[in-house]
Amino acid sequence: MIDVLVSGAGGRMGQAVVEAVSAETDMQIVARADPALEPGDGVFADLSSALAATTADVVVDFTTPATGFANTKASLEAGAHAVVGTTGFTEDELEQLRQLAAGEGPNAIIAPNFAVGAVLMMRFAQMAAEHLPHAEIVELHHERKLDAPSGTAALTAERMPGHVPIHSVRLPGLVAHQEVLLGGLDETLTIRHDSLSRKSFMPGVVMAIRDVPTRSGLTVGMEPILGISS
Ligand code: NAP
Repeated sequence: MIDVLVSGAGGRMGQAVVEAVSAETDMQIVARADPALEPGDGVFADLSSALAATTADVVVDFTTPATGFANTKASLEAGAHAVVGTTGFTEDELEQLRQLAAGEGPNAIIAPNFAVGAVLMMRFAQMAAEHLPHAEIVELHHERKLDAPSGTAALTAERMPGHVPIHSVRLPGLVAHQEVLLGGLDETLTIRHDSLSRKSFMPGVVMAIRDVPTRSGLTVGMEPILGISS
């Protein structure tokens, strides 16, 4: 049985993770941390109290760009593997976590997008950009998303040659959507992915929870776990 602590358990993604983990037979929720939740049995206002009070195998973090790095560091330092969906990590933060996760200790998987279709979209965009020289990205999210551009858009652009402009749209009613538009001579190609609800991320999150104990070091992105070359 894999014991899971959910950090940000009161948020939109955190609640979906609690539900998804609870539905699996080989993993269970041992604690939930979130300042937005009323502390009680297995529920903590902050992650450090939750880490001190429980022995979790894996901490899943879906919090805010401001706290994701500190939370991941605290989880690894407490000896728990980390599965992180929080976006907005800097290169420097990733490097620090890479060093922290190196060696015999706990491992980390950080993925800006756990949806299988989104990972494929990034791969297809990378392939298409080798043949069509002009590209732009439009990413569309719900109006309460704190970071822009999205982590998915930034990673997609990073994997494509040249400078790829990113346009961010924030509107109520949206979940997470991205279009990669490419142009050639008198032709365009549009690659689009839509997360229709937060459930779309859950198969990837559950897969990462199972995978993280045996995948050494820091893994960025779901590609190696899904067997998709990047
Ligand atoms: P949300 O609804 O605002 O949830 C975040 C929750 O984390 C809030 O309840 C917040 O509490 C709590 N929190 C803040 N600081 C905390 C701390 N130090 N320790 C524990 N909990 C803390 O946001 P969301 O829509 O669920 O998104 C969460 C993150 O996931 C964002 O970074 C988003 O970009 C990312 N995301 C990733 C994926 C992916 O596939 N990787 C998919 C969707 C979203 P307060 O409200 O009291 O601050």
